[in-house]
Amino acid sequence: MLVTLIFGGNQGDRKALIGEAITEMSSIGKIERCSSLYETAPWGFESSDSFYNQIVTYETNLHPEEVLDKCQATEQKLGRVRSGTQFCSRTMDIDILFCDSQIINTPRLTVPHPRLAQRNFVLAPLNEIMPAFIHPVSHKTIATLLSECTDTLKAEKKF
Ligand code: ATP
Ligand code: CA
Ligand code: CA
Repeated sequence: MLVTLIFGGNQGDRKALIGEAITEMSSIGKIERCSSLYETAPWGFESSDSFYNQIVTYETNLHPEEVLDKCQATEQKLGRVRSGTQFCSRTMDIDILFCDSQIINTPRLTVPHPRLAQRNFVLAPLNEIMPAFIHPVSHKTIATLLSECTDTLKAEKKF
């Protein structure tokens, strides 16, 4: 299965932490593609600490819920504190965007990620590495979703 993950954080050494998380997650399988690193203002809450985000695809033999376990273990390892509020500052957030073209709805996991089409910080790096990928629910390409996205926060390519 090809799994697409987004890494993000707005605390600590953001660039180094994302690099560490990408390496840590390579225990699930081989890295296939990697986007540039983008900087974006916080989405859904106010903070002066902007986010860095990067998207990586891995070829893995694990089940999607096992990939989620590894994402959450990696967040913990890199110092994430769960505050209970939904959108908040954090050292590391790792979300599953796609698992091939599977549609998953379990108590722990919704794939494709339900808010990805509302977010430039997801669509901009996705468009860099897989613009022609067809979203399995909306049946639109990433390029189309980006062109239709009304998010006003700009995702700026940094590195
Ligand atoms: P958002 O999902 O809007 O980006 P968030 O990443 O801040 O918000 P979290 O607090 O990190 O939200 O995660 C809350 C829960 O979301 C997790 O405990 C996890 O079980 C669930 N979840 C559902 N679908 C996914 C997915 N595709 N990737 C990661 N977590 C998911
Ligand atoms: Ca998230
Ligand atoms: Ca998350």
